[in-house]
Amino acid sequence: MKGPASAFAGRRAVLATMHGKERAIGPAFRDILGIDIEVPGNLDTDQLGTFSGEIERPGSMDEVLVAKARLGLKVSGLDLSVASEGSFGPHPQMPFIPAGLEKLVLIDARSGLVAIEHSVDLSPCYAIWETRRLIDIADQIRAAGFPDQAMIVRPNSGPAVIVQKGVQTLENLEAAIGQAARVSSDGVARVQTDMRARFNPKRMMSIASLAKKLADRLCQTCSSCSAPGWGVKGTEAGLPCSWCGAPTAWVLHELMGCFMCDHETSRPRSDGLTEADPAHCPYCNP
Ligand SMILES: [Zn+2]
Ligand SMILES: [Zn+2]
Repeated sequence: MKGPASAFAGRRAVLATMHGKERAIGPAFRDILGIDIEVPGNLDTDQLGTFSGEIERPGSMDEVLVAKARLGLKVSGLDLSVASEGSFGPHPQMPFIPAGLEKLVLIDARSGLVAIEHSVDLSPCYAIWETRRLIDIADQIRAAGFPDQAMIVRPNSGPAVIVQKGVQTLENLEAAIGQAARVSSDGVARVQTDMRARFNPKRMMSIASLAKKLADRLCQTCSSCSAPGWGVKGTEAGLPCSWCGAPTAWVLHELMGCFMCDHETSRPRSDGLTEADPAHCPYCNP
């Protein structure tokens, strides 16, 4: 049992969510850290922006994440808070692949610790279809996991309104597509995967593994200041080419750091790779 040994054992944390994320985050936090997660009943995280885009998100993803966790502290009166944020779109380096970035924060108001961990999902359930009729996309949405995976329907052009979200029956989907197509100036409906956690099972799984990653990290303490959360904070390029030894853009070292102090160390990459493929060398394969 690692739980009781954690610096947080026996504490309660508020989780600022309206989307059932406690199912994904609760088990790892309880088993690994000994933290009990509770969700306040009177929380409107949609004030902070939503996936369906009706409300503009203020600030960067980290700012929204931390603001959400602080909102949790405020409404619950607890001194420990957890919040999660996701962002979906084309992969920044590989624009033809969709990617999901998930972030999770734990704020400890007692110590001032703000611990943020992230993960990248290279196969998120994230897709958009433009259609006039349900039948034309029925196979594709089923392949995407419908009806467990819910859909959002809106007009493809014209009024920027959501016709329906959280759609999980064929009848509702057909009606919503018809309604959206009628008000769209091009007669086409835009159907997309609902990215809210409780409507997106793949996302729920990503959040669960991220919760485990953050919980494991919070069991590691800084050797300089003893704060919990010692872990990877970045990478350093320069892995040598296996032919000529020149530094490449590939990762050479992982930078390890602390959330509370400036202590930092570097270690070789965790996958054990010590040389880069010459195809990525600036000299061997320009
Ligand atoms: Zn430290
Ligand atoms: Zn080379």
